[in-house]
Amino acid sequence: MRADRLVTMSQPVDSAVSAVRTYIAQHRAAFLDDLAEWLRIPSVSAQPDHAPDVRRSADWLAAKLRETGFPTTEVWETPGAPAVFAEWPSDDPRAPTVVVYGHHDVQPAAREDGWDSDPFEPVVRENRLYARGAADDKGQVFFHTLGVRAHLATTGRTAPAVHLKLLIEGEEESGSPHFRALAEQHSARLAADAVIVSDTGMWSEDVPTVCTGMRGLVECEIRLFGPDQDIHSGSFGGAVPNPATAAARLVAALHDEHARVAIPGFYDGIVELTDRERALFAELPFDEQQWLSTAKSYGTHGEAGHTTLERIWARPTAEVNGISGGYQGPGSKTIIPSSAMVKLSFRLVAGQDPDHVEKAVREWAAEQLSAGIRHEITFTGSTRPCLTPLDHPALQSVVRAMGRAFDQPVRFTREGGSGPAADLQEVLGTPVLFLGISVPSDGWHAPNEKVELDLLLKGVEITAYLWADLGEYWRHAP
Ligand SMILES: [Zn+2]
Repeated sequence: MRADRLVTMSQPVDSAVSAVRTYIAQHRAAFLDDLAEWLRIPSVSAQPDHAPDVRRSADWLAAKLRETGFPTTEVWETPGAPAVFAEWPSDDPRAPTVVVYGHHDVQPAAREDGWDSDPFEPVVRENRLYARGAADDKGQVFFHTLGVRAHLATTGRTAPAVHLKLLIEGEEESGSPHFRALAEQHSARLAADAVIVSDTGMWSEDVPTVCTGMRGLVECEIRLFGPDQDIHSGSFGGAVPNPATAAARLVAALHDEHARVAIPGFYDGIVELTDRERALFAELPFDEQQWLSTAKSYGTHGEAGHTTLERIWARPTAEVNGISGGYQGPGSKTIIPSSAMVKLSFRLVAGQDPDHVEKAVREWAAEQLSAGIRHEITFTGSTRPCLTPLDHPALQSVVRAMGRAFDQPVRFTREGGSGPAADLQEVLGTPVLFLGISVPSDGWHAPNEKVELDLLLKGVEITAYLWADLGEYWRHAP
């Protein structure tokens, strides 16, 4: 689909801003009560005991979205936990279509893990809402409900200025095993001009940011085989190849002396950072010492010529996740082991193709191994990288909407991790944008997860502006 290019301009908005803020203030209490009700459902997808709760969470959300006004709300079955789909068409045929992605399942949590209060009994302390899922991801899904209502109420519309679709999955915290198949099965109904992921965060409370991309991931396990059984290192050592030595050589050959990945073809096609992007990264108030203490590492290390933020956000990597082989028990055992194993993972950036990387790794591994060492490589799934260009009209709308809500300039980040959003990008053929209001202190997956109430309501406010902005500046040609 083609859409008009956007013209960037600042806009006189004060009356719209105050109308949205007034509307949110009027509905804040009911909104938080509803969210608390949802947070009380322990929708832990990893624990089979909670399967009925995950279903209850999906049903609860579908009912709430219906009450919000979505004319279509459906619970979509998968072989695992159900997802929720909702759709609210615009009354403007030229409006763009947006799919909001989030998830309604949560990480496991128990009081004895170190929570100060019951993880499934939400409480507000010092303007923070504490509960499992408060930030990841129920809170960030839920701001869309009041957001679309605020958009309608303050613009006098009866339908949104964009064709709005929500896809809220129920297995994200379990690795989204059925998500891609679900997206493929329903690809026609999910068709959209952009995907907006509400399952990420900002730089900090004071620095609103938009994430523009996520790295991809390729993982493999390489098993190395030498003699058919462990053999005597005196009788045979020095005359036959040792698979543990081969594993060490393989791992050592992954990088060159500049910490660049030394696999031929690995960097093929990558989208290099522009000078502008590097300058924007450098503008962020990054404190490397503090970052190191979060990393619990004693030093930085990475590809020469790149900063730490560039290394984790915009450069591909090869990491050794595990290496094993030979005798690991007490004392000595003078053997040449019969096998060894390494587990590797590769983070990919935009332009890299997981299939191409897999092929390159296979060829490289075969090349490294000497005669007499047999090997098997197993690739265990892959995720594509995603990146939205800074001048993409939908990204510009997100930036404007966020800038209005925060009354300050919005900066850009990327995400070093990988996620199911990349499947939507690929299956639907649309760019993926990330809109999140969570902050690093929110404690995702940790005890005492919380969301800052002021930021949660900023999420509501951002979406109220965003749908209007997208509808105005990103209309399809008639
Ligand atoms: Zn999440």
